[in-house]
Amino acid sequence: MGTEASVPMEIKKMEKEAIRIRWQDGHESTYSNAYLREQCQCASCVDEWSGTKRISPDQIPKDIESTEIKAVGRYAVSIHWSDGHNTGIYPFDHLKRICPCSVCQAASPA
Ligand SMILES: [Zn+2]
Ligand SMILES: [Zn+2]
Repeated sequence: MGTEASVPMEIKKMEKEAIRIRWQDGHESTYSNAYLREQCQCASCVDEWSGTKRISPDQIPKDIESTEIKAVGRYAVSIHWSDGHNTGIYPFDHLKRICPCSVCQAASPA
């Protein structure tokens, strides 16, 4: 797939606990907030050198909410979280790759 497919047409907060992205290729991804929070790629969540995650799922409040969703240029979205974490940047291609739906999970080598 080219880069075109990794451009969101729409990013929407679903109720309180999830964010939905509709992609240019028509695919829809729904991410639970806790899942997205855990997937944060920023320097305080992932070790820059080893790529090891510094955050574990049990550190993430179950009822975490996104407080702000902002586009960052044309390639990423920044999400502010209710646990005070606001340095997270989620590149679109990363978001597409971590889509939790069964179709994407089946297609990507785990
Ligand atoms: Zn982070
Ligand atoms: Zn998917």
